[in-house]
Amino acid sequence: PDQNVPPWLARLNAPQREAVLATEGPVLMLAGAGTGKTAALTARLAWLVGTRRAWPSEILCVTFTNKAAREMRHRVGALIGDAVEGMPWLGTFHSICARMLRRHAEVVGLQPNFTIIDTDDQLRLLKQLIVEHGVDEKRWPARQLAGLIDRWKNRGLNPDQLDALENEAWVNGKGTQFYTLYQARLRTLNACDFGDLLLHMLNILRTHRDVLEQYQRRFKYVMVDEYQDTNAVQYLWLRLLAQERRNICVVGDDDQSIYSWRGAEVANILRFEKDFPGATVIRLEQNYRSTPEILAAASGLIAANSERLGKTLWTEAGGGDKVRVIGVWDAAEEARRVGEEIERLEREGAPLNKVAILVRAQYQTREFEDRFVQIGLNYRIVGGFRFYDRAEIRDALAYLRVIAQPSDDLAFERIHNQPKRGIGAKTLEKMHSHARATGLPLAAATLQLADSDELPARAAGTIAGMMRDFLRWREMAEAVTPSELLRVVLDQSGYDTMLKADKSVESGQRAENLTELARAMEEYETLGDFLEHVSLVMDNDKADDTEKVTIMTIHAAKGLEFDNVFLPGWEEGVFPSQRALDEGGLASLEEERRLAYVAITRARRRCTIMHAANRRIYGQWTSSIPSRFVGELPAAHVAVETTMTGGASLWRANWTETEDPFAHLANAAPDRAQQRGPGWQRALATGYETAPTRVREATRSAASFAAKPRTDMAVG
Ligand code: ATP
Ligand code: MG
Repeated sequence: PDQNVPPWLARLNAPQREAVLATEGPVLMLAGAGTGKTAALTARLAWLVGTRRAWPSEILCVTFTNKAAREMRHRVGALIGDAVEGMPWLGTFHSICARMLRRHAEVVGLQPNFTIIDTDDQLRLLKQLIVEHGVDEKRWPARQLAGLIDRWKNRGLNPDQLDALENEAWVNGKGTQFYTLYQARLRTLNACDFGDLLLHMLNILRTHRDVLEQYQRRFKYVMVDEYQDTNAVQYLWLRLLAQERRNICVVGDDDQSIYSWRGAEVANILRFEKDFPGATVIRLEQNYRSTPEILAAASGLIAANSERLGKTLWTEAGGGDKVRVIGVWDAAEEARRVGEEIERLEREGAPLNKVAILVRAQYQTREFEDRFVQIGLNYRIVGGFRFYDRAEIRDALAYLRVIAQPSDDLAFERIHNQPKRGIGAKTLEKMHSHARATGLPLAAATLQLADSDELPARAAGTIAGMMRDFLRWREMAEAVTPSELLRVVLDQSGYDTMLKADKSVESGQRAENLTELARAMEEYETLGDFLEHVSLVMDNDKADDTEKVTIMTIHAAKGLEFDNVFLPGWEEGVFPSQRALDEGGLASLEEERRLAYVAITRARRRCTIMHAANRRIYGQWTSSIPSRFVGELPAAHVAVETTMTGGASLWRANWTETEDPFAHLANAAPDRAQQRGPGWQRALATGYETAPTRVREATRSAASFAAKPRTDMAVG
């Protein structure tokens, strides 16, 4: 090998190295799970910086989660050392756009210290608008409007760009109006929602040539991981940024496209070669992650999908256990069994950090949490707002938000009477109407109101006192650390006293949580930094040293790998989800199957699938049927253990024990001539023209999801 090739590059296989070295011009890396796409992308990043092709600040690199960005930063650091410091543009679409938008906020009518509101606040705001405009909230729930607005934003549509059909989707023709109202309200609040981060940036790049050119000049290289899950607005944003230099490298796997319900369009992969003609297409086929048994099981399952580009996978690794399928009586036994298995692994010396339980839906985690607490097994839940979602934490954050950003009405409203100050509903109503009349933010209007004689003297006095507190805290925020500020605020606002007066068990826990919050804040220098962190970081994964089992949704596990993976709840109605079954469409079922493929391919050494015969859903016991996906696993690569009778035999009847169409996966490099599967051929032959059906399907399913709570949403 060439002496100039660093060892981390030499370790890569030929196509991976090609992806690293093809620095100039567009590159599309399309390959199955565990083939080292992310590894190649990381090496490419290291190569660009290490060979001085670009400064770290001149590379735009989009990862799917904050965690993935951290990991990539860490890995690049390990490859090339300190040079990795200051990779400001390595992160998720959201975090990168938030950073950009702070620089150009005025262009879209915001101040640089704008608040990023979460779903909760979004719903509250929409509810207000709906009620204010005399629409029946029961008939037209805020949640549905939120879903529509998200969808429009995901597609890069501003209020004036909705077509007639979209406009009709809300109160029979008020789509544009309400979307406009919502955007205007956000602007008064100096706030934006997650969708805005991208949409605003796209608007800015589209309308301000100078800004666009500035970024086009800056970003010498653009890279995107998990490209199959980009939505329209992300795609358009990327295309603008990369158009000029055309040094864009995207990496993806159509079989792992699992976010169509959030507007992701797998068609973006097909479109890539159209938008960037002459793109180098690189296909990786050797899997380095999993045993042949796991790979065969996953490949067999995904083969049941009809909408695929099709690809070949093989591995040099030998041996390994078959994928286990365990049938149990109910969810409690499922959790008990998984607990026992993990304890056994622990005794055998397996590190808990490399064990994961991946669930289809958020609610499935509770049973495991209960059990693990009982047996004292350390676990962490990844991918929820659990900590920051607690009422006392949200209250404390609301105080901090008002301090950081006086026009944050939602935060102000949350704590105006928390702890109780005797500001009743009547006073609040007056505050609101004064704010509406004057066009002022709620806090400013309230201050004015307290000075007028519109309020009873006592209420006016209370309000004036509260506003004085805020002014003082705001000044203090400049001088003390964020966590000191929090302690002062909790003390002086009376929040601590309120908790102390409350003699319930929970109040003790609440106080502990607030202490924990102060601890978390200690890592931040400014209040703004901390609040930004809270709004962007979905997982409150603390970096402590104890080894823990990870419990997370499959959606959140994309791109990750674990030695041992447990997959509970493989039953019809759980996985595939009831929602997918109700919709009945091929597209939603195939997306569930891709999710199952993602789940199995997270496993490096062992994969255990479980299904329960009985499950309680909304308080009702129902008996359940094992998932069709269990039946689709190739029999030769599955070992069945069951602790109950019936059920499991339903799908075992489908199995033909003699055939093994996936035998070739183990230890045999396939014929290299067969480079592209039939789906891929078809797609290429017709180009992007094949895509619209899929886009429509994806949009349709996103629309029908809009009205329902997103219990399975896990990643931001
Ligand atoms: P996914 O589709 O799940 O995101 P991926 O294609 O991004 O998977 P990686 O996570 O990059 O795959 O790699 C999977 C595993 O294989 C990792 O443990 C990685 O370190 C290892 N790996 C990647 N490339 C090589 C290689 N050339 N030689 C040895 N191991 C490799
Ligand atoms: Mg990856």
